[in-house]
Amino acid sequence: MYRTNTCGELRLANLGQTVTLAGWVQRSRDLGGMTFVDLRDRYGITQLAFNMETDAALCEQARRLGREYVIQATGKVIERSSKNSKIPTGDIELEVAELTVLNEAKTPPFTIEDQSDGGDDLRMRYRYLDLRRNPVRQNLELRHRMAMLVRNYLSDRDFLEIETPMLIKSTPEGARDFVVPSRMNPGEFYALPQSPQQYKQLLMVSGMDRYFQIVRCFRDEDLRADRQPEFTQIDCEMSFVDQEDVLQMFEGLIRHLLHELKGLEFGPFQRITWHDAMRRFGSDKPDLRFGMEFQEVTDVVKGHGFSLFDNSELVVGIVAEGCAEYTRKQLDALTDFVKRPQVGAGGMVYIKCNADGTLKSSVDKFYDAEALKQIADKMGAKAGDLMLILCGPAMKTRTQLCALRLEVGQQLGLRDPQKFAPLWVVDFPLLEWDEETQRFYAMHHPFTAPKPEDEALLADPGRWGDIRANAYDMVLNGNEVGGGSIRIHDRTLQNQMFHTLGFTDESAAEQFGFLMDAFTYGAPPHAGLAFGFDRLCSVFSGADSIRDFIAFPKNNSGRDVMSGSPSPIAQEQLDELQIAIKKS
Ligand code: ASP
Repeated sequence: MYRTNTCGELRLANLGQTVTLAGWVQRSRDLGGMTFVDLRDRYGITQLAFNMETDAALCEQARRLGREYVIQATGKVIERSSKNSKIPTGDIELEVAELTVLNEAKTPPFTIEDQSDGGDDLRMRYRYLDLRRNPVRQNLELRHRMAMLVRNYLSDRDFLEIETPMLIKSTPEGARDFVVPSRMNPGEFYALPQSPQQYKQLLMVSGMDRYFQIVRCFRDEDLRADRQPEFTQIDCEMSFVDQEDVLQMFEGLIRHLLHELKGLEFGPFQRITWHDAMRRFGSDKPDLRFGMEFQEVTDVVKGHGFSLFDNSELVVGIVAEGCAEYTRKQLDALTDFVKRPQVGAGGMVYIKCNADGTLKSSVDKFYDAEALKQIADKMGAKAGDLMLILCGPAMKTRTQLCALRLEVGQQLGLRDPQKFAPLWVVDFPLLEWDEETQRFYAMHHPFTAPKPEDEALLADPGRWGDIRANAYDMVLNGNEVGGGSIRIHDRTLQNQMFHTLGFTDESAAEQFGFLMDAFTYGAPPHAGLAFGFDRLCSVFSGADSIRDFIAFPKNNSGRDVMSGSPSPIAQEQLDELQIAIKKS
């Protein structure tokens, strides 16, 4: 037996017991007469004590232990003379009688402490050592707890966890596929699933009724910050349900997680239409941990000779409460912020409502006190507040103001990671126009049903942009954590949708024929959604990065710097696959 207990377990109640522990040497302290070693495993740290007087040889042996050596120690649990209240085992120590080195270790390239001295790259290269650190391990523990809660919640409600294939047919819609060459079928390729979308719909045709899967998905996208080429979804589908059933079921799931993991209670989640979300917050994933809603002032600012406002489709601002005291420097910094290429605004107008009731703005030349007062009233600003205003084409300006709102919210500490603001965004547009290719794309995916009352608009290409979908996203603290839709289960409507998306009968049959065939054998009405599991973990932790919740993530260039993938493969492998690499 390697151990009788773990390093996080022993307390005063165990005094006098003879136990064996095993783990890694966190650090050792040589105090002359005594040597102390902190022994660590996943469960905690226990202090080992070696006494020069009682056993000099053993003490010498302990002094030679290096950091991260793997050892086994047997001894008696005794009360510590100087206790450590910071750790649960801090009242006791082990008076060691027997020490075995199970494995020596090289000195790790960075310290295995909560605050490590290792930079990102180094820690990624030695990820297995990084995982020894508490904060990283705790992230994986949270991930595990969440996965178990999800499984139990869904299983209790009759969902079956069913695995779907990883090697599937490539489809062009959506993101780019990762492809896998087939050796047995030269010149042919599988794709790795971007999601199990079509399979879960087939499972509904099969009568499985309720399906879920915690499943790896792959998307070969240019990696924006905090995207991973492989990521995990909680993927779900249900039959004989309408939108209300789906929203109830899955807000129930998130409520359950918030209760179990955070001890928080929530009533029904707020719902907001996509149009309202864009108008009020400039985003389809608004952060509702704070207000600062958009205030449109287009009509009151026009006609004062300020051509920038006069010529803008939209003039819209936010009120930063109690910020009238912002200095020139702070305002300049905010102007610089909105002018950054990532935000892209031409500039920013401010109006201060001073505490004494006077108003001061960056456009005093054009607006007298009365005009400024009118704007302040329209925006609902009061004494002590600061108004920040942007202008330009409507959608673009809203997106820019969204960035400013989040920045100001951040600066004012309104985006508290321990606060949770879940909501549904509903009624997404069905179709999205793409300037580059001059065609409509499905905003969610081509299987999403239009709202029945908007279905007739499919006959009128001029109105396609107005069609609303029976699609919904769950948003948590400004993150889209999940999304899904009511599916089209009618073959005629699905064909109409494919035509709208520019497919011919042949190309639709070639890509989606098996699903369309299946729909001729009795497809039930069905709907579903998928949560981004990595993201859900990071938002629950109040962390920014999903990388920290994946045991072995890729870096921003899609590389695993630890194993060195992707990498070239041997010529024999290429030959076998009949693949020739073009030399540039
Ligand atoms: N398959 C969709 C996605 O990955 C989710 C869904 O519609 O269920 O976004």
